[in-house]
Amino acid sequence: MGAIILNGKEVASQWEKKNSLRVQNLKAKGVNICLAVARFNDDEASKVYVRKKVAMCEKLGIKPILIEEEGLDQEKIENRVSSLNKDKEINGIIVQLPLPKGIDKERVLSLVSPEKDVDGLNVFSCGLLYKNMPGLRPCTPSGIIHLLKEYKIDLVGKRAVILGRSQLVGLPIFLMLLHENATPTIVHSKTKDLKNICKEADILIVATGRAKMVNREYVKEGAVVVDVGISRIEGKIVGDVDFEDVFDVAGYLTPVPGGVGPLTIMSLMENVINAASIQAGIKDDA
Ligand code: NDP
Repeated sequence: MGAIILNGKEVASQWEKKNSLRVQNLKAKGVNICLAVARFNDDEASKVYVRKKVAMCEKLGIKPILIEEEGLDQEKIENRVSSLNKDKEINGIIVQLPLPKGIDKERVLSLVSPEKDVDGLNVFSCGLLYKNMPGLRPCTPSGIIHLLKEYKIDLVGKRAVILGRSQLVGLPIFLMLLHENATPTIVHSKTKDLKNICKEADILIVATGRAKMVNREYVKEGAVVVDVGISRIEGKIVGDVDFEDVFDVAGYLTPVPGGVGPLTIMSLMENVINAASIQAGIKDDA
């Protein structure tokens, strides 16, 4: 029969409608939302990502401000981010990662105030997540939780295994699943007996960046498998999961592309709208 496909593209398109409506409602109340997207690296993938974010802002009626400056040193990047942070027109700030080699990422990210930290990646935002207090959450993990909820996948008491411990994906999704009352475990490159731990999972989240690493030997019959990975092989985008091999073992499975990716950007848009409405002191239907 095969797995039920977790159609991120479809869920993101519904979410987009909701976000679009919220932008219009806020506009009607005099709140014009503005997002600053700053790219300081010369990374090709980053150039694509910032363009996608700007395009989605324009589609939703959020004003984007795009800053693309390469070759800046630590002080200049910090000055740039500080001035964006002081700008009252700007509701949210993204500092596109990775930052150039030699730049202290934490120092830069900490210059974004928590209420504008729409990537949810600075130390304060991470602390709010750790404590399960309201705040702006990292976008990819939020998108994954949104997807699982849309498909009414019960998380309570479930054994979740997360492959990868990055601050961007693995670690925050671990905390979010814990806050949803799942029982999460993180495995990583130093984990022993990794395959068998993965095979215990009711919910398996894979974020390693290793193309097609996870095959059916890692997957319990009927498990929910979420593939975060994006790799390019011979011009084709593939995930960390060998989709064809896992398809008839998993109960639910995300495709790549069309799975987690579209949700990440929609989650970012929701963060920007939430940030703007909180800053304006307006309660809407978030
Ligand atoms: P990182 O490289 O920061 O982290 C990868 C993690 O996977 C590390 O914890 C690493 O372990 C672990 N890992 C790597 N190889 C293995 C292995 N062979 N066995 C076990 N663990 C392993 O990556 P990110 O978390 O930033 O991203 C992961 C993937 O997700 C990438 O392909 C990225 O492009 C994609 N991505 C997709 C997004 C989307 O919207 N769809 C958003 C963000 C990322 P260790 O810590 O021990 O080194």
